[in-house]
Amino acid sequence: MNRLLFIYSALLLSCMNNKVDDKSETKTIVTPFVSATDTCIDFNSLNTKIRDGLIPQKEALKKMQVLIPLIRNYYYKHNGQDFQKSAWIFPLQNYNAKAIGGKDGSGYIASGFNYFDGNKHGGHPSQDIFINDKNQDCLDDVTKKPVNVLSLTEGIVIAASTQWDTASNLRGGKYIYIYVPSINSFIYYAHTNKVLVNLCDIIKPGDIIANVGRTGLSAFKKRSPTHLHIMQLKLDSTYYPRPVNLYKDLLTIQTQKK
Ligand SMILES: [Zn+2]
Repeated sequence: MNRLLFIYSALLLSCMNNKVDDKSETKTIVTPFVSATDTCIDFNSLNTKIRDGLIPQKEALKKMQVLIPLIRNYYYKHNGQDFQKSAWIFPLQNYNAKAIGGKDGSGYIASGFNYFDGNKHGGHPSQDIFINDKNQDCLDDVTKKPVNVLSLTEGIVIAASTQWDTASNLRGGKYIYIYVPSINSFIYYAHTNKVLVNLCDIIKPGDIIANVGRTGLSAFKKRSPTHLHIMQLKLDSTYYPRPVNLYKDLLTIQTQKK
């Protein structure tokens, strides 16, 4: 192993093993009653099958048509509330729209994307939001602390991957899907270093849900600066998830500082 590669590997390792003081950084998130039969747990299993190409699209869509209405009911039964867009929070704490990659939202490419293609999907109907992390240790270069991923919207955690290793070909790495009943959409957050929520958690805008990381097939490579990948998928009348560009919303919403 040459010297540079060695230094990079050491940095990467420090990024992945980063001990995070979760308690001091995390707001209390109310966890509703969780049982094995909860529909969000069923949704996570379905999402994993879709991700891994283990279920035909037709069958997967039929399951979504059953599960999403149940998840909506669960959300409101467990005191989930709707919020206006004016309450949305920029998804990286202490960062703002200047950190969004590309020019004028050019990172968004909807063409070729299909949610049901799972890990093999094309396109990039998403925005990447970059943190200051020159040495790729997943800590902000100024504060030397992890950067909190804040929930853009309210909603309920319906899928998450809390484990990832460098041998995995999973593109999202450690990811979270939140279902937002008020806009009938999924919001997807990918490449996190640590997921700080559980399935079925009910979330408000600005709740800390993860730390920014470098997990995922491409995101962990040296050529990729440390970033959050965020995507909105709006369910149409048949519950088919269609990408929506979040760029304009990200430009106008509030930044949460601490
Ligand atoms: Zn991305």
